[in-house]
Amino acid sequence: MAKDIGIDLGTTKIVIYDRSKGMILDDPCVIAKDTESGKAIKYGAEAYEMMGRTPRQIVTIRPVRSGVINRYTETLKMVQYYLRRLCAGAVMKPRIIVGVPYGVTEVERQAAFDAMIAAGAKRVYVVEEPLLAALGCDLDISQPRGRMVIDIGGGTTEVAVLSLGGIVYSRSVRVGGDKMDSAIISYIRRNLNLLVGEGSAERIKKEIGSACVPAKGDGKTMEIKGRDLVNGVPKEIVITERQIAESLAEPVMAIVEAVKIALENTAPELAADIVDKGIMMTGGGSILANLDTVIRNATGLPVSLAEDPLTCVVRGTGKALDNFEEFRGVLYE
Ligand code: ADP
Ligand code: MG
Repeated sequence: MAKDIGIDLGTTKIVIYDRSKGMILDDPCVIAKDTESGKAIKYGAEAYEMMGRTPRQIVTIRPVRSGVINRYTETLKMVQYYLRRLCAGAVMKPRIIVGVPYGVTEVERQAAFDAMIAAGAKRVYVVEEPLLAALGCDLDISQPRGRMVIDIGGGTTEVAVLSLGGIVYSRSVRVGGDKMDSAIISYIRRNLNLLVGEGSAERIKKEIGSACVPAKGDGKTMEIKGRDLVNGVPKEIVITERQIAESLAEPVMAIVEAVKIALENTAPELAADIVDKGIMMTGGGSILANLDTVIRNATGLPVSLAEDPLTCVVRGTGKALDNFEEFRGVLYE
């Protein structure tokens, strides 16, 4: 029998769902490539490990930027690699549902479609991510009731209003987890004269990051290592939750602003529904500590965090695969 596969091709991660097995892969969306031979050397976690640590002839590439395919050949190779591994022994080519951000251009949608076909799909359905995110976090969007979903990914934050099984309004801003990481890097460089890499910044964010400064005191602390900018040697310092919260103020503000603008642009009937039902947050960036509270305070609306925000979109592809006939109407072939 042909396999049904769902793929969340994110800026930071590729997550794959098999209808008969559930989630089967969750890997960083990174490729390491030899610049001399042009061949891919490593994919996923192993390539991620190499980031910032490669000799001259090896480069690490993130083929997806802001949720859309930026490097076609590398994306195709990567998907092909995973499909070969995951569908080994399968006789028939799989049917694939792949998510793209709302409002992508025709060319970007086509690129996602073509990459999947070239990677070995029999049929491909390209679906807009806010819809998949809503399905994945079990929002009932089939009713004539407005529901709001915020998906904070690596490169973008998408705010969408859904009703009657479709997207009524969506707005995407190029702020997400990556901007948070770079804000941390520049804060530490400017204020503490220490240079830290992207991986360290991400670890700091996950461990002691917060969307608002602690009410009193400095909050949690963490030891971090980097290169001293004054004398150029490796050094270890202690950083506080308060400092990291300060560094994150700008990206957090940009996310709040995007939510407010989306609310301003929502038709009154739908806005009234959102007052009742609130906002659902999903995507890895939404796990940032206190971000839900900050958005709740800024909008005065109930805000909830989806269960397992990192896998909402791919679980949404699972639901779409299960109800294939019902979803035919919103799938693009
Ligand atoms: P994408 O769909 O763009 O690949 P994801 O939804 O997978 O993005 O989210 C990835 C982002 O979430 C990354 O920037 C990552 O650093 C961030 N992230 C993951 N876990 C946490 C956490 N505990 N706190 C803050 N950010 C997190
Ligand atoms: Mg995503």
